[in-house]
Amino acid sequence: MTEIVVIGSGMAAVGAVHRLRAEGVRPTLYDKNPYPGGHTATFRHSSGFLFDDGPHISFTRDERLQALFAENVGREFEIIQAQVNNYWRGHWIKHPAQCNLYGLPPDLVSRVIEDFVATQSGDSTEFSNYREWLLAAYGRTFAETFPTEYGTKYHTTGPENMTTDWLGSRLYRPAMDEVLRGAVEPVTPDVHYVDHFRYPSENGFVSYLEPFYRHCRLELSHEVMRIDAARRRLEFAGGDNVEYEHLISSMPLPSLIARIEGAPPEVVEAASRLACTTCVVVNVGIDRPDISPAHWTYFYDRDFIFTRLSFPHMLSPANVPPGAGSIQAELYYSEKYKPLDRRPEECIEPVVADLRRCGVLRETDEILVTEARVAPFANVIFDLDRPAAVEAVHGFLDDAEIGYCGRYGEWGYQWTDESFISGEQAAQRALDRTSS
Ligand SMILES: Cc1cc2nc3c(=O)[nH]c(=O)nc-3n(C[C@H](O)[C@H](O)[C@H](O)COP(=O)(O)OP(=O)(O)OC[C@H]3O[C@@H](n4cnc5c(N)ncnc54)[C@H](O)[C@@H]3O)c2cc1C
Repeated sequence: MTEIVVIGSGMAAVGAVHRLRAEGVRPTLYDKNPYPGGHTATFRHSSGFLFDDGPHISFTRDERLQALFAENVGREFEIIQAQVNNYWRGHWIKHPAQCNLYGLPPDLVSRVIEDFVATQSGDSTEFSNYREWLLAAYGRTFAETFPTEYGTKYHTTGPENMTTDWLGSRLYRPAMDEVLRGAVEPVTPDVHYVDHFRYPSENGFVSYLEPFYRHCRLELSHEVMRIDAARRRLEFAGGDNVEYEHLISSMPLPSLIARIEGAPPEVVEAASRLACTTCVVVNVGIDRPDISPAHWTYFYDRDFIFTRLSFPHMLSPANVPPGAGSIQAELYYSEKYKPLDRRPEECIEPVVADLRRCGVLRETDEILVTEARVAPFANVIFDLDRPAAVEAVHGFLDDAEIGYCGRYGEWGYQWTDESFISGEQAAQRALDRTSS
């Protein structure tokens, strides 16, 4: 039997398990964490609150994956129409802001429209950075007031330092009439790229993955420390070794390269240029559920410590004890551009203060639980260094026959469904090597 070893136990790893199972191959998964699921893990508090590692919903349009995940949770899932809004200097506006300007200061709205009209004569399709794209898409006033402010908080670097290959459908480009209508009317059509989503009714997001673990050997608390690609051997923290025939890694490329014996200096240097955000998630549980009309809210103001809020109790009532509500705040840092300057627990107090300042928390609310978690690798930063650095690292891994997959193996913007498919594809490549 071919020994296929997978590093990780998140969405990409279970994608590999699923593909291998179809060929009768049972891989071994090694994960450094004492729990499975990677970014899609769910944690249950003794007080009855459930929080996912970070906010996670499934909005895949892939019907095969919809059916597979539905089966995994015994068809017990919620289908939810997404409600999304924005907070900007005391104003709450529907998302996306570019076609929901109603209620903003009239002077700002008229400048946004004036600039937007001016963009209509441009037909450029070539942009050397994200800032140029923003100016062409929305005009200066909107670009600088909204996406530049939000993006700098979220990506930790400015749009002039970013490429545009990650955009896809993430930033909506409205037609003139959509901008005008949204400026004069409070009710507008929903145009967000996530219009509805699914979420397991019980036990959090990780329950979409759990049945896959029956088809592999799952070894938790196994941190891979060294990879000897020539001898096809892994060494773990603590000194144990295993040999493999094929290796598939879903761990982040910078950590992977640092652990490969004899990786050439130029590849090590390229890996050191790969940038990723670190996300501190602050979870808050309170004694009432009527916290927000939206499932998540984007915060543009730089003086608010968090970038985005979401509300897990609105995904499934089973995420909270009866009568309670919950909030998940995301704060972004990065080693390369904005190092985390405090211990994660020190983020709790400023988060609670800002929740009160914007009115999400009331003085009368009883706070039942707070915690802070840190994800050292959250969102890949598409800075200008990324394309060449990824090419150098992937080229080396291909030559060393080390498979890579998932958000942090591909070093892309993969959502859960894309990470799963990436794992399936990496498994297929390993199978192809076996048969050739
Ligand atoms: C804050 C946030 C919110 C998100 N929200 C959504 C959402 O709503 N919907 C959506 O579809 N997607 C969302 N995503 C994206 C989604 O999380 C990813 O696409 C997906 O979880 C990535 O899975 P993965 O298996 O590629 O990586 P991971 O889940 O990170 O798995 C990698 C695994 O490798 C393990 N590992 C690392 N180093 C080692 C080592 N040395 N030895 C052994 N094991 C190691 C890790 O412990 C981890 O389990 C979100 C991401 C973030 C950061």
